[in-house]
Amino acid sequence: MTANNNDTLPIKSPRKSIKSPRKSPGKRKTPQPSPQTETTDLAKVCVSHDTSKATLPELLYGDDPSLQEYYLSRHRKAYFDHAFIEETKTIQESGKLDNRSTKTKQDLQHIVDVVTHWNTTAKYEKDGSLLPKELKEFREFKKNNKAGFKWRQYYNIEKILLPGDNEETIVIRRMEVKNKQKYVGRIIVSQEDSFDRIQEHHRMSGHLGAESTYNNCNLKYFNITQAMVQTFCKTCPTCLEKNPILPPHVGAQKVIYSHQWRDRFQVDLIDMRKFARPNVYGVVQNWIMTVKDHFSGFTALFSIPQKKTEFVAHELEKYFGLVGYPTIFHTDNGNEFVARQLLDMIAEINPAIITVTGRPRTPRDQGSVERVNQTVKRILADVGAERRNEGKDDN
Ligand SMILES: [Zn+2]
Repeated sequence: MTANNNDTLPIKSPRKSIKSPRKSPGKRKTPQPSPQTETTDLAKVCVSHDTSKATLPELLYGDDPSLQEYYLSRHRKAYFDHAFIEETKTIQESGKLDNRSTKTKQDLQHIVDVVTHWNTTAKYEKDGSLLPKELKEFREFKKNNKAGFKWRQYYNIEKILLPGDNEETIVIRRMEVKNKQKYVGRIIVSQEDSFDRIQEHHRMSGHLGAESTYNNCNLKYFNITQAMVQTFCKTCPTCLEKNPILPPHVGAQKVIYSHQWRDRFQVDLIDMRKFARPNVYGVVQNWIMTVKDHFSGFTALFSIPQKKTEFVAHELEKYFGLVGYPTIFHTDNGNEFVARQLLDMIAEINPAIITVTGRPRTPRDQGSVERVNQTVKRILADVGAERRNEGKDDN
């Protein structure tokens, strides 16, 4: 028994076991969709690579073609399982003008057929070379394919002979409008081809996130949607390996309780250098200091010209003089607050104040006051815009 266990250990023990890129416990043992012979081969490959501690991306784009193929097929399957769920009937079955942004190959072929036939026959109709019988057939055809009227305006169909190919490739492009000018726009992709098209751009950009992949695709293709790219990136084994999806943490991990007004003041600075304005004394004010009472949420704002201890201390002193001293003085770890000077000053004016600083680069310790800062910024922007609209100085 123990010998057996030891044999299986090297496969299972590393956290980033290449056998479970999707992190589904059920599929740990053997890859299911592949036939039996392939599975055993893959198992061997996995074990040998696992001992050399190669990471998944290396394996994916490494030298081993069978493994590349395997992950690509898994990725492809996962993508198609999720990308086009609301799949219904084909255009021909339903007989409707279809609005799905990405159509199946079959539907696209149907569109190509209708548009091509319509265009060529319409040309003969115009120059009068159609026989009466053919003319009748053409009218019948138009009646049965009413959607073709729209498709003719939407789609531009080209036949291209690619170098090395014997058959012509059909490229469907969408007619697009820019500055009221109609032009032959981006390429239309079928559902079946969408995986490969996204894959090109996703790999080219070095597995950047969904957004830049989408932007790249969007330049070239008309109908690759954000949802499709998101599905693609969510199922990409390399991306999963690189940035595993973690449930987001919300708020401070240890909740801070305050029982009374002035139990705890949280202090932070907002950078307003972009919107710097002089105050009544003519001194340009670059920063806004927010002081929030943690219990009531009451927030006071002060403008200060520079991020310096003197200014912060001066405004704080004025404020404390007005409302009284807090029990705990909570700041982030920025220079201006940790500065000895300020702490000294606070200790001097009231030795009973406890000073607390959040950990460096951990804004969530400051969650409460950071939240207020967002609100402050938004409100200030609103007020500024309002005053500008009224033709006043927005200070
Ligand atoms: Zn990726």
